Amino acid sequence: MNIIRNNNQKKWKYSISITAALMLLLLLLVTGCSAASEGEEEVINNDAPQEVVLTQEEENEPPENDEMDGDNPEEVEENPGLTQEPSYERMDPAQVQANELGQVMVLMYHHVKEPEEEWSRTPENFRGDLEVLYEQNFRPIRLIDYARGHINVPAGTTPVVLTFDDGNDNNFSMIEDESGEWIIDPDSAVGVLMTFYEEHPDFRPHATFFINGGTPFAQADWVEFKLNYLVDHGMDIGNHTETHLHLGDASAERLQQELARVQMLVDRHVEDYIVNTFSLPFGSRPKDEGVAPYVIAGEHEGVAYNNKAVLEVGWDPYHSPFHKDFSPHKIRRIRASETKVDNVGMYDWLATFESGGRPRYISDGDPKTIAIPESRLEFLADDMSGYEMVVY
Ligand SMILES: [Zn+2]
Repeated sequence: MNIIRNNNQKKWKYSISITAALMLLLLLLVTGCSAASEGEEEVINNDAPQEVVLTQEEENEPPENDEMDGDNPEEVEENPGLTQEPSYERMDPAQVQANELGQVMVLMYHHVKEPEEEWSRTPENFRGDLEVLYEQNFRPIRLIDYARGHINVPAGTTPVVLTFDDGNDNNFSMIEDESGEWIIDPDSAVGVLMTFYEEHPDFRPHATFFINGGTPFAQADWVEFKLNYLVDHGMDIGNHTETHLHLGDASAERLQQELARVQMLVDRHVEDYIVNTFSLPFGSRPKDEGVAPYVIAGEHEGVAYNNKAVLEVGWDPYHSPFHKDFSPHKIRRIRASETKVDNVGMYDWLATFESGGRPRYISDGDPKTIAIPESRLEFLADDMSGYEMVVY
């Protein structure tokens, strides 16, 4: 470390020593989904509507812009049905203080419902989170785009990744309004996100919903509509294992079955959608080194999976995808809450970014150029093929 020159980096170093001291404690405290959420995965909600009336306006969206194809050979697995990407103006990196080696928050939500609890965010507080993120110049990107280093946000803004675990009913519920029409519950996570997007068109509703088997989001008659709605509106379906399995002692066979069966479930409802992101239930990995690789790729009864992003529970912002220590299979998340977050919740990290305690990712507006201050150069990944580097 011979480039510690400015105050921000000194603070960062200091922050690391503090957070490292907290780490042991936090590993005990932050274990992902609450124990109470286990077992809820099997509940099948039978309050399906008697009469199904789709009131959602079908958006006839153009196919995704394929301008970026070629950045990465893995893009052949692109999923269909996504909203067209906007393109932004590239700005002078120094003017916007671009730092594309800065850090990114991957936010973790579970329930969106009353009352506020350790694993529940109220709809009002979730809206408040989005408002704060928006005002502080964060813009959502897809998890898969973060994992593969395709970060397309306006110059001067910071990408943020929104994730929801467990496929809870309150993440995406349909309700009957006064006139008897079925609408997306405006207080469910998807309802809040879409309303916010309507009011703030530059805050795209990208989020990943990690589902289990059974009936994702409850309401059996609506599963197909919901899963397709997510995909059609730029959101993603992620894998959270069929039975919310603690992977610690899982066999290779069981692990592959658990992951492949979620793909099978999605296949029954959504055409050609590849489930390629995985959030580890309880944040646990297989202890057996021979089983561990099946977290990433495997096959069961002829159905294969290949996870491009694997999410842990974690407690802090994670590296830029262009940082030499970034691993798409070890992405850490932050709890988006203010309850029992042990000083490492979303609002704590916003304050840390604000004070310069951690370097924040700031875009230059162009996903193909990677703009970084010269002082950060030593943290750059070795393989930057497919990108144009701008060092200032
Ligand atoms: Zn979970």
